[in-house]
Amino acid sequence: MSAVQETIRRRQHEVSRIVRWPRHWALLALPVPVVGYILSMLAAYAGLAGWELWRTPLRGWDVVLFAALMTCGAVCVEATRRLGQPSGVSRDLLSAWWLPVVLLLPPLYALIAPALLGLLLYLRVRRGPVYRRVFSSAALGLAGACASILFRTLAPVAPQAPATGWLIYPGPQGWFVRPQQAGIAVCCAVVFGVLNTCLVAVAAWLAEPDGRLGDMLWDRERILLDLTETCVGILVTIACALSPLLLVVALPPVILLQRSLMHQQLKAAARTDAKTGLLNAATWQREADAEITRALRRGEPVALLLADVDHFKKVNDTHGHLVGDIVLRGLASELRQQVREADIVGRFGGEEFVILLSKTAPGEALRIAERLRRGVGVVQVLAGEATIGVTISIGAAVLGVHGRDLLELLAAADLALYRAKETGRDRVCLSEPTDAARQR
Ligand code: GH3
Ligand code: MG
Ligand code: MG
Repeated sequence: MSAVQETIRRRQHEVSRIVRWPRHWALLALPVPVVGYILSMLAAYAGLAGWELWRTPLRGWDVVLFAALMTCGAVCVEATRRLGQPSGVSRDLLSAWWLPVVLLLPPLYALIAPALLGLLLYLRVRRGPVYRRVFSSAALGLAGACASILFRTLAPVAPQAPATGWLIYPGPQGWFVRPQQAGIAVCCAVVFGVLNTCLVAVAAWLAEPDGRLGDMLWDRERILLDLTETCVGILVTIACALSPLLLVVALPPVILLQRSLMHQQLKAAARTDAKTGLLNAATWQREADAEITRALRRGEPVALLLADVDHFKKVNDTHGHLVGDIVLRGLASELRQQVREADIVGRFGGEEFVILLSKTAPGEALRIAERLRRGVGVVQVLAGEATIGVTISIGAAVLGVHGRDLLELLAAADLALYRAKETGRDRVCLSEPTDAARQR
């Protein structure tokens, strides 16, 4: 058995093990490096928590402030719980409450906060297996504690809590008399965000070494959200340092922002196909329908391409479904890159893709389809140790020539695709004109 086959057999075995393990114990079915990484993170978390517990004096004011911030976090979780959770990594704006904990309280509280809110999220929202929630809490806790230690080193808090009482408000702790304090706080907040992202990205990379670490770390949309979260967190921190009572004022706008963020993520998730990132079939159909109506009104040409991967079953049978999925993702990104922004690209189902080309006449449609076919033909998708190349067959149809609406166009393109398959695959076929179009 070749090394490639051996790798694929092992991965298939891993997947089947994950499927058979009960959800909560799926950790034990993960590849050994991931389990090792997660367990060492948990050990580091427990060690640091023990050390901080031992060295942190218990101050009443710290406990009160911590409880107030956790209450705000809990209110946010409850306020957005009913919206549901988008799949994948979602942003919940809870940083607005982690950051004040990190910057205003001893590192011990930065370690405890994610565990408490993580538990609440698990009990009330319950998304994903328990080990993932534990891991992400530990990553947040470790990143928060490091940022907190850094902040205390660079901007030591003013002497506080004189002997007059246990439960005493320490004042703004230099936030308003030392302008550099806000700058240091921003730097520490960035360290917190970057550290947390890196800790999570390494786990994702160990679990799926085929994914590119750079892509996991560098995503423009995610960085913009991180920046928003950081800014909101800093503003809440400053308000809280001024007077903890201002938390009551900060809470409603944070909830509102969080709800609109979740709403946007849910809307985006409902539009796209999770596997390829293209539009899903229902959204594609809706958008294509609207484009065709517009084109008919303006008398513009529109073309439809239906592409099907050749012998894809063989890819699955030889390399396994996981590798097949990686190939589908690669193809989808190639198709998206090869057409204009205004063209509507969707996953029609299985390994079939549809593209609606606006303002495109038959000759141009064939040229674009040929370009796509050739483009896909030279793409080599790297999956583990295997390099896989596939070809596609494309059926093309044009509005007004091969059909008068979306359904007729789809039927015509499907027939043309069938012809492309019948005549040898890896080719483009244009549909036959309808009788009405012939007589015109
Ligand atoms: P051809 O189109 O050239 O006639 O041959 P084919 O082998 O591609 O045949 P067909 O289109 O009938 O088979 C499609 C295969 O695609 C079968 C199914 O297992 C696989 N498939 C469908 N959806 C997915 C998916 O999301 N992931 C993976 N890995 N495979 C999928
Ligand atoms: Mg098919
Ligand atoms: Mg096929």
